[in-house]
Amino acid sequence: MPATEWREARIAEVVRETRDAATLVLDVDGWGGHRAGQHVDVRLTADDGYQAQRSYSIASAPEDGLRITVERLEDGEVSPWFVDIAHKGDRFDVRGPFGGWFVWSAEQTAPLLLIAGGSGLVPLMSMLRHRRNAHSHVEARLLVSARDPDDVLYANELATIGAELVFTYTRRAPAGWSGYTRRVDREILADVAFSPDRGARTYVCGPTAFVESVANDLVALGHDSATIRTERFGATGG
Ligand SMILES: Cc1cc2nc3c(=O)[nH]c(=O)nc-3n(C[C@H](O)[C@H](O)[C@H](O)COP(=O)(O)OP(=O)(O)OC[C@H]3O[C@@H](n4cnc5c(N)ncnc54)[C@H](O)[C@@H]3O)c2cc1C
Repeated sequence: MPATEWREARIAEVVRETRDAATLVLDVDGWGGHRAGQHVDVRLTADDGYQAQRSYSIASAPEDGLRITVERLEDGEVSPWFVDIAHKGDRFDVRGPFGGWFVWSAEQTAPLLLIAGGSGLVPLMSMLRHRRNAHSHVEARLLVSARDPDDVLYANELATIGAELVFTYTRRAPAGWSGYTRRVDREILADVAFSPDRGARTYVCGPTAFVESVANDLVALGHDSATIRTERFGATGG
């Protein structure tokens, strides 16, 4: 079945990730698999026929079926349903996977730099899970910008995923924290990025303004824009 056709997804499980986010484990008949970094479209239909459509990155590795992670936006139309109301057995429509550029495969050998703003971590987690499953030895570094430590998705799993982790907390840091406490800026990127001569592949994902400022700063620091791949989740929040 082509990726552009809508298919029914059944929620097999809802996993609470943080106060504001949940992962949905989905069963989709005839799902043809995906690549790490891709996303799906989802479509919800109300009893009166009203439909709302959004995009969500795939959180799972290609080897591990289909999971999405949704963060609730307080005034959002769709995300609160996924995070607070949806439960096992609920159904909605999905199509995809989509995206042929913002993808990573374990066959790649260049060092991997992943930079996430908030829920922008979702597709990057798919890449890290794929790297782990494939026993890839590619050097991987992950920079996460989060409001506070309780907001970091997949925190326990990240601790054992085999990547070098760097966090910056924009609103509240843990007691005794000596790391970064501000939005990602050029100085942080100068510390965290691989030297431009290492030929690293960089993936940046998050709110639009976050992604644009990180990508611009990386280029200003001498990184080749052809090595930087970006995914914008929309809006300017984060
Ligand atoms: C390719 C792609 C992949 C995405 N992957 C994910 C994902 O893995 N997890 C996830 O939680 N979201 C993801 N998103 C964002 C998602 O599609 C929705 O935009 C988000 O869930 C808000 O939908 P909503 O209906 O709840 O809010 P809406 O009713 O659409 O918007 C409510 C308010 O929030 C603002 N807003 C809308 N989107 C955002 C945003 N992304 N950040 C901050 N403010 C926003 C709007 O301007 C509006 O004021 C992705 C978006 C794209 C384009």
